[in-house]
Amino acid sequence: MRTLPGPLRTALAGDFRADTLDDSAVRPADRGLTEKALHRLADGQLVESVLMRYPGRQGYRERATVCISSQAGCAVGCPFCATGELGFGRDLDAAEIVDQVRFWARRLAVSGMHVTNVVFMGMGEPLLNLDAVLEAAAALTDPARFGLGGRHVTVSTSGVTPGIERLTVLRPSWTLAVSLHAARPSLRDVLVPLNRRYPVEGVVEAASAYADATGRRVSYEYVMIDGLNDTPADAAAVATLLRGRLAHVNLIPMNPVAHTAWLPSRPERIEPFAAVLRGAGIATTIRRTRGDEIGAACGQLAAERGGMPAPATVRRRREHLERAGAASLAGRPG
Ligand code: SAH
Ligand code: SF4
Repeated sequence: MRTLPGPLRTALAGDFRADTLDDSAVRPADRGLTEKALHRLADGQLVESVLMRYPGRQGYRERATVCISSQAGCAVGCPFCATGELGFGRDLDAAEIVDQVRFWARRLAVSGMHVTNVVFMGMGEPLLNLDAVLEAAAALTDPARFGLGGRHVTVSTSGVTPGIERLTVLRPSWTLAVSLHAARPSLRDVLVPLNRRYPVEGVVEAASAYADATGRRVSYEYVMIDGLNDTPADAAAVATLLRGRLAHVNLIPMNPVAHTAWLPSRPERIEPFAAVLRGAGIATTIRRTRGDEIGAACGQLAAERGGMPAPATVRRRREHLERAGAASLAGRPG
């Protein structure tokens, strides 16, 4: 604001902030279609956000999806997730959440584009920071600010039942994604430790009530881990749990992260798994990963501490896994 007198500008700069992100470093992947930003907040905490561009095809316009963080780190501690390995830092406030979207909106504006979708699938569990997430979403869906339609905002939860119930009352317009990863309680206790507090049946009931309120399908995310949750028995358990519900399942081969020996399921395991679900009348998609070479894919966001292990490490881990027997890693008998 160069029209203001210098001393006033100095005073304003001392008392107010125009941005809660102190500094952001960007790395590109997928030939520039994916970019990851590492943001430093005022107190030094680091969070990440990701931009994914989907070029327009066959009459569809180009989409630009921003994946944002709601917390620095995460307390849930899913063992296949780099953010979980990091542990909990702190909740972000609404401005820190919105500023991640502003960051990408400014960069897109240079090429005449704008943010079309926002997904709460970065670091953190959004339903454990729901007040700030609701305030941020109010800004994102406000026609005078970002003006996104509710269905272009997706909130992904590892299954915080009371949070889903609150959303059903307050915001029955978002797209809800539930991170399922296992239907059998004993395995889900291991893969999503929150299952011990909010058991999967109650999560699915709450998500179904949300779906009924919106008339739209819930997305169930299922990270496929080699030999662990990709067996025919696991597929049958998911089919039993979701049969007849407004549901869509996304099967996502696990993205490798530095701290575990677990590896993505092989295609010969994923296809039959999908066939069982489709056979039960459940819409099922096998997802392709974006941004994994820069640690920007789902579950790899760990503020530069996680990311992709070296190929030799992956090879060693596969050998170790085969020796150890994958089942015992999940605490299952033999
Ligand atoms: N905490 C929320 C949202 C952030 S995680 C949640 O768990 O839903 C976003 C998604 O990435 C979740 O579905 C999560 O299970 C998935 N994810 C975590 N680690 C992953 C990995 N290593 N490979 C693939 N997906 C992963
Ligand atoms: Fe947290 Fe989601 Fe990672 Fe689980 S998958 S540790 S809930 S960010």
